[in-house]
Amino acid sequence: MDEEAAPKRGKNGPKFHCLPHSTQGSARMGTRKKVHTFVRVKPTDDFAHEMIKYGDDNKSIDIHLKKDTRRGVVNNQQTDWSFKLDGVLHNASQDLVYETVAKDVVAQALDGYNGTIMCYGQTGAGKTYTMTGTTENYKHRGILPRALQQVFRMIEERPTHAITVRVSYLEIYNESLFDLLSTLPYVGPSVTPMTIVENPQGVFIKGLSVHLTSQEEDAFSLLFEGETNRVIASHTMNKNSSRSHCIFTIYVEAHSRTLSDEKYITSKINLVDLAGSERLGKSGAIIALGDQKREHIPFRQCKLTHALKDSLGGNCNMVLLTNIYGEAAQLEETLSSLRFASRMKLVTTEPAINEKYDAERMVKNLEKELALLKQELAIHDSLANRTLVNYDPMDEIQIAEINSQVRRYLEGTLDEIDIINLRQIQEVFNQFRVVLSQQEQEVESALRRKYTLIDKNDFAAISAVQKAGLVDVDGHLVGEPDGQGFGLGVTPFSAKPGKKSKSKKTFKEQLSSSARKEGASSPVSGKELDVSTSKTQLTPSSKEGDVKDMTIRERETSSLEPLPSDSPKEELRPPRPSTPPPKPVAFEDFKNERGSEINRIFKENKSILNERRKRASETTQRINAIKRQMDVTKEALNFQKSLREKQGEYENKGLMIIDEEEFLLILKLKDLKKQYRTEYQDLRDLRAEIQYCQHLVDQCRHRLLTEFDIWYNESFFIPEDLQVALKPGGSIRPGMVPVSRIMSLGEDAQDKFSQLQQVVLPEGPDSVAFYNAKVKTEQKHNYLKTMMGLQQAHRK
Ligand code: ADP
Ligand code: MG
Repeated sequence: MDEEAAPKRGKNGPKFHCLPHSTQGSARMGTRKKVHTFVRVKPTDDFAHEMIKYGDDNKSIDIHLKKDTRRGVVNNQQTDWSFKLDGVLHNASQDLVYETVAKDVVAQALDGYNGTIMCYGQTGAGKTYTMTGTTENYKHRGILPRALQQVFRMIEERPTHAITVRVSYLEIYNESLFDLLSTLPYVGPSVTPMTIVENPQGVFIKGLSVHLTSQEEDAFSLLFEGETNRVIASHTMNKNSSRSHCIFTIYVEAHSRTLSDEKYITSKINLVDLAGSERLGKSGAIIALGDQKREHIPFRQCKLTHALKDSLGGNCNMVLLTNIYGEAAQLEETLSSLRFASRMKLVTTEPAINEKYDAERMVKNLEKELALLKQELAIHDSLANRTLVNYDPMDEIQIAEINSQVRRYLEGTLDEIDIINLRQIQEVFNQFRVVLSQQEQEVESALRRKYTLIDKNDFAAISAVQKAGLVDVDGHLVGEPDGQGFGLGVTPFSAKPGKKSKSKKTFKEQLSSSARKEGASSPVSGKELDVSTSKTQLTPSSKEGDVKDMTIRERETSSLEPLPSDSPKEELRPPRPSTPPPKPVAFEDFKNERGSEINRIFKENKSILNERRKRASETTQRINAIKRQMDVTKEALNFQKSLREKQGEYENKGLMIIDEEEFLLILKLKDLKKQYRTEYQDLRDLRAEIQYCQHLVDQCRHRLLTEFDIWYNESFFIPEDLQVALKPGGSIRPGMVPVSRIMSLGEDAQDKFSQLQQVVLPEGPDSVAFYNAKVKTEQKHNYLKTMMGLQQAHRK
């Protein structure tokens, strides 16, 4: 298994004492940097001048071994080494060391860069002295207290920012983690051992206490607390201090005091006092870091490198300070330390600022900006002379108004929807969608009321319907020629019978075709039978007049051929009622159903007839008016003539001389005569047309009544087996049945019943059954009579 597999997220356990360090959100990638390496030589009276030499720029150390001394000490033949470094600190004060090694790193931490300063070297070479210094002597204080001092000093110099400082102090001994600040009363002993946790924000130590310090003094107290614990622990736990790594971490978080700045930075400074290098030989990662050939650094191999994983190399400023002895006796270890330092010098890092965003501030800033933009809009509106436009989210009433606008727009009662603002446009589109889906639902539910809709994907339902024989395999309704149904349906009883195109022929069309030459011969009937409105027309009185003597003609032009007997639609008729409906009621039904087409043609023809009659009467009026004018003109002319005769006639070469007035009257009369003739001709034509129209209207009325009676009897009286005989191809053609015979069917009985009801019902409801039975008997009697008549007619 690869040790450096993807970092695992820490479980949501108890609260973390350690601030996560962010590696995310790093911005402003700096240029690539090398690890800064310095060497600090521990002051000694016995400095090996002949063996250790510094370069003129103080940036290199040359080591020279005498031949005799190196036998048995160094295996190779090399006697001279030169190490390039960033600086050699010889007899340097703590102050100078800090200035050289740490100052920049700490300064940059306040700008958001992580920094790591490590002291490496042989036990006793001065690592702890360099890092912590002496706690008794202020002058000899080390990097840790100085770094804290610098941080607080810089905070004071940056009043524009609210900067918080936290510290933690971790000791790693024998691969175990110890919190050097856990002895503080408010921390308490850790229940669970600390663990190193990696998450997308970085690496942190779960269980390590992190302490907020608002001033220098607090920070120093924490430092001393930690140092004391180091010493005590080394005694009580019998620790060998040279084997422990100590990591003092300063966490910085800087928020701008300018609230509009929602960015903030975080950083941490790791100050690492490593275990003696003679013990470090085998602990891989620190060594591996300096190994250029190694691409893979086994950070997690030991706790130290794991804990510092995001602080070694990578995006932080990194300093390695190598502490060496200056004595010849320690040269072997010194050489080894310098080798490591020079290797580390080659490691590159890419420091970057850890920039984050304050979500709360961002929301506040956006709110502010929003308010500002609204004000701006209001100014724009008033400048553009726009009436108060509201940019707030819409309430229910406003949305309902838009919905109604959209509906009116779709209906066509609203020509356009005024654009007010973006929000309103969005709501208009939204309401379009709402209205559309409502309409879809309405259409579907309307269809459901009328038809049984089956989901095309519902195979079980389809096969059930197929079994019932209602649909073919393609899901089309049986008997539906185009099969363009949207679903499966059952045609309701009221559906119109199939129409032939010729059945739609109206009077106009007939008039323009061969109709005229037939020569309209039927007399104009003065009686108009209004079948569309007045029910009294179908009561016995009218029946006596118009209906009874009607004969059926032109059956071949029928638009109402009965449906084929095998049509499934025929089978869907509801059962017959025990009592037939009154004829006027049935007639209304008939006109809406089977008789709708002939009724339509009848009404159309009638309206044309009426129109022609109106024209004829207008023409007659005009003719009369012309006639009167002619009479007046004639009289005037006669008067002029008599005047002329009285005055004596003038003749000139056989021509009569008349005055202008008489001449104008003659012209007028001539003109009137011409008009009269034209109008008279028109009237004659119109009369012929009226005659013809009357004929067609009569025919239509006959047809309508005839068909109605056939339908009425079929529907309520004639047994089904006889109906088969009456159908085309059957033994009896309905067109040959004398209407008067069929008309007699039921009608008398029905009328009698109606009359009876009026007379008898006051006797009480119990009488109804009695009279019903009576009516039925009479109906049956009538029926038998009619059937006999039918058979006689057929025989003829
Ligand atoms: P390390 O931590 O590397 O094992 P120490 O820092 O404990 O070594 O140093 C060992 C001793 O040497 C200490 O007593 C320390 O005070 C002293 N010492 C180390 N470096 C210096 C120095 N530059 N100046 C004065 N004393 C030093
Ligand atoms: Mg030490």
